[in-house]
Amino acid sequence: MSRGLEANRPTESRFAYVTLVTNADYAVGAAALLHSIALTGTGADRVVLYTGAVTEALLAPLAALGARLVRTELLPTSDAFNDAHGRARLHGAAPFAKGGKPPFHTPLDNFAKLRLWQMEEYERVVFLDADTLMLQNCDKLFGYPEFCAAPNVYESLADFHRMNSGVFVARPSRATFDAMLAMLDQPGAFWRRTDQTFLQAFFPDWHGLPVMYNMLQYVWFAMPALWDWSQIKVLHFQYEKPWDAVNPKADQLSVLIDLWKVYAAGGVPDLAALRAP
Ligand code: UDP
Ligand code: MN
Repeated sequence: MSRGLEANRPTESRFAYVTLVTNADYAVGAAALLHSIALTGTGADRVVLYTGAVTEALLAPLAALGARLVRTELLPTSDAFNDAHGRARLHGAAPFAKGGKPPFHTPLDNFAKLRLWQMEEYERVVFLDADTLMLQNCDKLFGYPEFCAAPNVYESLADFHRMNSGVFVARPSRATFDAMLAMLDQPGAFWRRTDQTFLQAFFPDWHGLPVMYNMLQYVWFAMPALWDWSQIKVLHFQYEKPWDAVNPKADQLSVLIDLWKVYAAGGVPDLAALRAP
């Protein structure tokens, strides 16, 4: 296809939950996410946007979970852009002081999220990072306008100034995609938190979703008063990943990691039985 997206089957809905997978580790995350979305009883498509680096063996379990698979490639960004957003360069220029990123996280790959604006076969798309879990049905978001996202809250009130790009509502449009590419890769461009910084700049008047639509795992220990299991729609494992054997915060986050493992094993968790922070 000229637009560079290739699907394994037709759509079944005008709406889709879409995640992105560019390597084996995020395929692990996507499997748990796909299962969690299915448990909410949605009629929307569940789509995995993946790049050529992801093998058939990794895709088969995702297809078995009912995902529509859409193959793509990273964006055709310039060498200068790719250098500036390489892992070592980015971490050097804009270090992560608040938490750790696993070694399998490649910052440049994040920008491939923008490809979902090419998916004009859908009227609305809700994007979800592969390190999220849907705990409650979110279908009402398909009636929301572009662009909706929750604030990047996990430490203090100042966090409300920034959005988090792990969950957002978008309206696919070729024109929007083209405008994004034109703005993204300008000479000297440096988006310190990659797609997140870019999307906030592209949609400066973003509509704020309640934090419950993107509850960041650090809230568990940093802002426990905000935690209410009965209200959380999407749980997001920002920074350290629950499937990573090396997780310096594993003890602090054990309740959340154990929950992720239930979903990853294809189980049905008892959300009402979870303890408060
Ligand atoms: N992603 C990916 N491969 C990468 C980096 C990111 O597939 O090397 C995708 C994946 O869906 C991931 C999302 O982009 O969940 C954003 O990255 P991540 O969740 O690691 O960032 P964080 O939420 O920790 O800021
Ligand atoms: Mn994430």
